[in-house]
Amino acid sequence: MPTNLAEKRTAARGAGRTARGGAGPRVSFEFFPPKTDKAGASLEEAIRGLAPLAPQFMTVTYGAGGSTQSVTRQWVDRVAELGGTPVGHHLTCVGATRAEIDALARSLWNDGIRHIVALRGDPPQGTTRYEPHPDGYAFAADLVEGLRRVADFEISVGAYPEVHPEAASAAADMDNLKRKLDAGATRAITQYFFDVETFLRFRDRAHAAGITKEIVPGIIPVTNIESLIRFSEACGATVPRWLTDLFDGLQEDPETRQMIAASVAIEQCTRLQAEGADSFHFYTLNRANVTRAVCHALGVRASADKVAA
Ligand code: FAD
Repeated sequence: MPTNLAEKRTAARGAGRTARGGAGPRVSFEFFPPKTDKAGASLEEAIRGLAPLAPQFMTVTYGAGGSTQSVTRQWVDRVAELGGTPVGHHLTCVGATRAEIDALARSLWNDGIRHIVALRGDPPQGTTRYEPHPDGYAFAADLVEGLRRVADFEISVGAYPEVHPEAASAAADMDNLKRKLDAGATRAITQYFFDVETFLRFRDRAHAAGITKEIVPGIIPVTNIESLIRFSEACGATVPRWLTDLFDGLQEDPETRQMIAASVAIEQCTRLQAEGADSFHFYTLNRANVTRAVCHALGVRASADKVAA
C-alpha cells in the first residue's frame, strides 16, 4: 500500500500502464472551430501534434446559438481525417427546434459520427438569461433523451465541480447531472477547475447520489491568465490567487508561461491520478505544445504507427 504521495503517484501511473499496455491514462482533446485561415492552419498543426498520442477521442465545440453549425461539422470531418481517432460533435439546445436538432443528429449518424457532446448551451451574445426555444429541447437532459431516440450515440455531458452558476442549489445541479446520465449519457466531462479537492468532493457527492458512470476531469492548460480570468467569470470557475501569482510579470514572456502552464497541469493531473482518475479531457485551446508535455509527463506516449502515418 503506498504510504506517501510520491508512491501513490507511481502506483497510479503503473496501474494505468498495466491496464492499457503502456499507454498511461486515457486522454481526449477538445478544439473549437477557428475563425480565420491562419487559425485553421494552426489548428491543423495542433491536431497533427496531438494525434500520435492516440487519444480516446477528440471533440469539436459548437458556437453559441448554433452559430458554428456548418463549421463545427467541417472540423469534425477534418479532425477525423487528420487525427484518425473518433471525433465527438458538440451540440446545444439553443436556438433550434427539436425537429431541427433531430434532423441534424440523424444526418450526423448517417455520416458515421457516433459521439455527441450534448449541452444546453449558453444564452446568445447580447443576452444574459437563458430562454429555451418554445419548440426546442429545454435542457441538456431533454437533449440526451431526444438523441437516444434518434440513434445509439455515445453521449458525453457537462458537469460542474463548482456548481453551474444558474443552478438553484448544488443538490439540484447534482440531480440534473444524474438525470442526464440516467437519460442515457455515457459519461460526464467536467468544466475546468484548479482546486483538486473541489473535484474530489464533487466526485464523492456524485457517488453518494448514486452516479456510477465516469466523470472525466476537464483540464485547461493555462497560458493566458488574463483571458482565463475573463472567461471564468462567465462560466463560474474559480481562478485561485496562487495561479494568478504564478503568471505575475510574465505578460511578455510566452515561453515561460508555457512552462508554468505545463507544470500546473502536470501537478493537477498527477494528484488526480493518485486519487484514482484515469482519464482526462484537455481543453487544448487549439494548441498542442503544452497538452503534449502534460500527457508525456503522465505516461501518455506517441504510438509508433501514428507517428509513422
Ligand atoms: P444543463 O445540464 O441543461 O444545465 C444548465 C443549468 O440548468 C444548470 O444550472 C442546471 O442545474 C439547470 N437545470 C437543468 N435542468 C433544469 C430544469 N428542468 N429546471 C430548472 N433548472 C434546470 N457551450 C456551447 O455553447 N458550446 C459548446 O460546444 C460547449 N461545450 C462544452 C463542453 C463541456 C465539457 C462543458 C462542461 C461545457 C460546454 N459548454 C459549451 C458550455 C455549456 O453550454 C454551459 O455550461 C451551459 O450553461 C450549461 O450547459 P449544460 O449542458 O451543462 O446544461
